[in-house]
Amino acid sequence: MQTGNALIEIRTAAITEGSCAFNFTCRAEDFNDPKLTESGFTDEIRIRAVTKKTGNELMLAITTEATGEIPCDICLAPVKVSMNGSWRIYCNTDGIARDEDAEETAREEYRLLDRTAVSIDLTGDVRETLLLSVPMKVTCTANPDCKLYTGSEQEGQEEKGSTSPWRESLAKLKKNYR
Ligand SMILES: [Zn+2]
Repeated sequence: MQTGNALIEIRTAAITEGSCAFNFTCRAEDFNDPKLTESGFTDEIRIRAVTKKTGNELMLAITTEATGEIPCDICLAPVKVSMNGSWRIYCNTDGIARDEDAEETAREEYRLLDRTAVSIDLTGDVRETLLLSVPMKVTCTANPDCKLYTGSEQEGQEEKGSTSPWRESLAKLKKNYR
């Protein structure tokens, strides 16, 4: 943390030609983002960033490992899930923008990197990776009571009685994705 305010960052001086791996641990609360804290992350989050440097080109592969509790889509009982995310960033420091038409998948990004930058802040990228790793739909696997609801509850149907805070935060989260 002595390099700056970023929660997760890599000192550019530590990135050498070839492959380097950097490990971080944090908690969802560290990001100060309600979207993350409401996503059901429970324990420590493990983050691994692997850099591959070739001249002016730099590839950054971020993988995240976390566990959480997400309400079952049918009965709202909390279900333990493991959440694994990955994200790739291609950077170059020669100041030449890459072809915009280059094929880009949802989990890859191209970025120009300031040659004089002391560190690369990965906080935002890790946050996005974590949000993407949260399963959109979770259902109980071994809960016989849960199956009773199957078929009787349709999506979009109004819930009887009080609304569950779990359901509310899930709905909010889903909205935030779009
Ligand atoms: Zn269930």
